[in-house]
Amino acid sequence: MPVWTPFGGGRKVAHSWAGSSRSEAESGCCHETSLMKFSDIGTRVASKDFLSYQLVAELSHRGRMRAFFLWGLLLISLHPSPISAQWWQESQAIMGTQVLVELWHPDEAQGRAAVGAVMDEMRRIDREMSPFKASSLLSYMNREAARSPVEITPELFELMWKSVRISELTGGAFDVTFASAGRKYDYRKHVKPDHEALAEAMPAIDYHHLQFDRQHTRIRYLHRGVYVDLGGIAKGHAVDRAIGILQKRGITQAMVGAGGDTRIIGDRRGEPWVVGVRDPRKEGENVAVLPLTDVAVSTSGDYERYFELDGVRYHHIIDPKTGDSAREVRSVTVLGDEATTTDALSTSVFVLGVEKGLALVNRLPGIDAIIIDGEGRMHFSDELLRMAKHDPS
Ligand code: ADP
Ligand code: MG
Repeated sequence: MPVWTPFGGGRKVAHSWAGSSRSEAESGCCHETSLMKFSDIGTRVASKDFLSYQLVAELSHRGRMRAFFLWGLLLISLHPSPISAQWWQESQAIMGTQVLVELWHPDEAQGRAAVGAVMDEMRRIDREMSPFKASSLLSYMNREAARSPVEITPELFELMWKSVRISELTGGAFDVTFASAGRKYDYRKHVKPDHEALAEAMPAIDYHHLQFDRQHTRIRYLHRGVYVDLGGIAKGHAVDRAIGILQKRGITQAMVGAGGDTRIIGDRRGEPWVVGVRDPRKEGENVAVLPLTDVAVSTSGDYERYFELDGVRYHHIIDPKTGDSAREVRSVTVLGDEATTTDALSTSVFVLGVEKGLALVNRLPGIDAIIIDGEGRMHFSDELLRMAKHDPS
């Protein structure tokens, strides 16, 4: 007998470079690669002290944060790596976004193999979890699970389970069934559902409609209109899986990013990696730079996929309560230990807004956030403010 269990227990969850552009184009479309030795890119960027100084300086202006300074994307070391360093980097379009891997390995063959293994893993997860591919397991589940329980892989089961735990943690701000209405938007074609279509879809948005049979790793939908999209968590999951693969190969210094979700292990030859938080209204500019090691970072923004109609911005982060885009803030960056968590939380905090979002983040150990509100003001979680105050050098 299957044991039908409702969603799970709300376990507490525990730092990316700013989101890169994402198209809704068929994922995995292009396999342009640029594998290169990456030992001596740029040289001048902030140290942690400088960031703190900037943070304090800016905060003293009543929290009205302007650009700390411009930062030219990606990861820049303070000192060129030694000649012997072997940095390997590759970028590919997978999962409807740009996947970037950078790692240190002394051996060329092994370094290249590790990069290849990460890309293979990203493509595997995309094949299984893409809502845009009719052949994916997720699409199969969406077609069948309202009729009868669908057996899925333990990996997809666990990700669904985690999604629901985050739904509970966030009071439903995060809800993978958002897509029951969310799929009626087409951001490329500037299409939004009319009032009637939205009203019809709304009852299907509720994670309580998902029923889990852990013993047989089966999932059933309790409402006919339910449609699941893991776009708010799957890239983070893929990044965590990729980091796991690198760690198994003994790699201790690496960065894996998929669009707005990045995870870093180790430092970059004795210096922090540097991640930029994008200005949500000025492409190519950053409002902050974060020197980081051993962390996952996710950014959710209203500038990735959107269109404007009658002065209203319709974008891809949906408030499950309304079926409409969440509009209180412009971007949210979440830092934590695992990208799966930071990915889901950045989407969640975006929906919750400044007050509720910061309240949530401040009660989650190991989680920090930077929110840019609707007027472009920056807000920081308590721990980030404390760090800035205690390290003003
Ligand atoms: P991106 O995918 O651009 O990195 P996010 O991590 O914020 O940005 O995820 C946005 C994606 O999350 C959307 O494209 C959609 O697939 C999904 N999503 C949107 N609203 C919600 C929500 N309320 N709960 C869960 N997932 C959501
Ligand atoms: Mg997210």
